[in-house]
Amino acid sequence: MAMASTLIGKQAVVIGAGMGGLTAAGALADRFDQVVVLERDTLPSEPAHRAGTPQARHVHALLLSGQRALSELFPGFEQDLARAGAVPLTAGLDVRIERPGYDPFPQRDLGWFSYAISRPALEGAVRRRVESRTNITLRQRCRVQEILAASNGEAVTGVGYANGNGANETIAADLVVDASGRGALTLDLLQAIGRLLPEETTIGIDLGYATCSFAIPDDAARDWKGIMTFGQAPESSRGGIMLPLEGNRWMATIAGRHGDAPPGDAEGFLAFARAFRTPTIYDAISRAKCLDGVARYGFPESVRRHFEQLKEFPRGLLPIADAICRFNPVYGQGMSVAAMEACLLRRLLDSPAADGDPIAALAPAFFAEVQALIETPWSIAMLDFAFPDTRGQRPADFEITLRFSRALTQLAAEDPEIHRLTAEVQNLLKPRSVYRDPNLVQRVLAKMAEA
Ligand SMILES: Cc1cc2nc3c(=O)[nH]c(=O)nc-3n(C[C@H](O)[C@H](O)[C@H](O)COP(=O)(O)OP(=O)(O)OC[C@H]3O[C@@H](n4cnc5c(N)ncnc54)[C@H](O)[C@@H]3O)c2cc1C
Repeated sequence: MAMASTLIGKQAVVIGAGMGGLTAAGALADRFDQVVVLERDTLPSEPAHRAGTPQARHVHALLLSGQRALSELFPGFEQDLARAGAVPLTAGLDVRIERPGYDPFPQRDLGWFSYAISRPALEGAVRRRVESRTNITLRQRCRVQEILAASNGEAVTGVGYANGNGANETIAADLVVDASGRGALTLDLLQAIGRLLPEETTIGIDLGYATCSFAIPDDAARDWKGIMTFGQAPESSRGGIMLPLEGNRWMATIAGRHGDAPPGDAEGFLAFARAFRTPTIYDAISRAKCLDGVARYGFPESVRRHFEQLKEFPRGLLPIADAICRFNPVYGQGMSVAAMEACLLRRLLDSPAADGDPIAALAPAFFAEVQALIETPWSIAMLDFAFPDTRGQRPADFEITLRFSRALTQLAAEDPEIHRLTAEVQNLLKPRSVYRDPNLVQRVLAKMAEA
């Protein structure tokens, strides 16, 4: 039970037991007497795929920021990862990166390690931590149908859902966290009570993903454990990532954009990989035993919802994770941002305003502060405009951004300190604004001039 003196509400309800919902439940448990997580799926006891998270069949990289956020929420979580069979990777050294002009990019120890693990195993490890909290209840096979509000629409009062038998039930809540991924329930409620919907910024990337797992052969390369291959933008959007997973497997995800999606059969999968700029992934998987079929996924666009611009928002409602912002999966950011958002939620709950209504203050404070978290991953996604078919508001100075980015990559290849800095930004440990440091800008401009 949470300590009565620190409680700000009796019951919180979380919609969805994905990465956003589970981490949010962990953050809420100290401040609510009871936390109930409603999930439409049957949750497997062993790592396994489930219908509600079809993306889980594809490579899910956990950034160092996400790993740290999970450890902040669930102390000792890295040991859980190791116990679940996650493969430790020395940053900068164990994943061979092939990008135009750098095949491979210099491999150096950047001073930290991260873990590679399948999404179902990672989610399972987080779920076990959540299940161990006595005041959190996970209810499976409960599909939330609507978020309920008081008749004047000013406050949320609970949710209505269909239980495992198909019967309709309601549950009361002081706070409802919408971690359903799509966030459609939040938008439906705003519409139903006559409130404005948040504006959306979208970046249309029409990404096609295909994934297959392989047994790692005994004679696999020894100088890398994983590999990332990028195409030559803008001519080719084809690329791939292959990571080692628990159970001595490789998971290979290959992708293309704007109509150049990989096919869904094993032969087509290999042929697509064979046409990559470099042969490394093809050479590795063509000699390896395929363990399952090919799974595909289409990701039309990154979406950022500007809840921070809404003047009014119902008390007791908080959309979180993908419901606020869905990032291009290629950059591996979504789960880490979800875990960091849960840490932000916990910080806000830990320091409620001395007077007033902490639940009413929560969503506005969260929407304001989450911008700093979203800023860097969203600005990385802006690089998608390197492909001319990308839809959306191309920044006016984008050509300069692209030239800056190329020159920075060159510096990172030459200078281990800059390499570490760029890896820290990619891992969301530092904001992208560190690139505005005057000394760094001067060095990058000099490189741009050389080019
Ligand atoms: C192809 C692909 C690859 C990706 N790769 C990466 C990666 O490498 N690294 C990374 O960090 N992120 C990656 N992501 C993003 C990552 O999957 C998401 O950002 C992350 O899962 C967000 O968590 P969430 O809780 O918002 O949504 P989810 O984890 O999708 O969870 C939503 C949950 O809500 C449940 N739900 C939905 N509606 C209801 C309802 N009405 N009632 C009850 N339950 C409901 C669903 O069943 C599900 O369990 C990838 C995404 C895609 C599409």
